[in-house]
Amino acid sequence: MTSRIVDIPKIFRCDFTGAYFDKCIKCESDLMRGDRPYIIEKALKPYGSYDSYSTLFEYAMCMNCAESMKTMMSKDSMAKLMEFFAQNMDLNKHRHQMNEAYPLQAYKWIENCIVSGKAVSEVSECQIYAACVGDQLVFSEFPYMVAGSVLDQMVELLSAETKDELDGFKDEYVDGPSEFQDLLQSGPKVFI
Ligand SMILES: [Zn+2]
Repeated sequence: MTSRIVDIPKIFRCDFTGAYFDKCIKCESDLMRGDRPYIIEKALKPYGSYDSYSTLFEYAMCMNCAESMKTMMSKDSMAKLMEFFAQNMDLNKHRHQMNEAYPLQAYKWIENCIVSGKAVSEVSECQIYAACVGDQLVFSEFPYMVAGSVLDQMVELLSAETKDELDGFKDEYVDGPSEFQDLLQSGPKVFI
């Protein structure tokens, strides 16, 4: 079987630098060494397609840190989210369909929201996720897209305690003295 990896496409590169994400946002380990898998998450405002969008936030996080983030969630929030995923999200089905129809075509995998089915052309905000190793995107249950309206529903499920924890994370890492602050201060970027 051929390996299911491609060079990380432009949409999953860092919009702030224009290059690959090279550091875990939390532990700052070097992601380009290729010895630890990591996740990329970006929140975007697409203008009709991924050809033109504003970046709301973006980061890469190594799997170790991503796992430790889960412990920030209360048991109640975790249980509710798991139930929501089980009822609304079929990552295996998505993976299977995309592998059949669009093997190795990352943009096709993120064309429609994995929960609502809404196309990128129909959403005002969305988040996209990819799993990578070094400068390669790995096709697994990732990549996928979640529409903003669905993310709002998910946030509703979280306990106040978990929301506080996540806000704390945002304050520390996203709004803190990091490249994100620069990204946010420099305003929306539009890529055409
Ligand atoms: Zn890390």
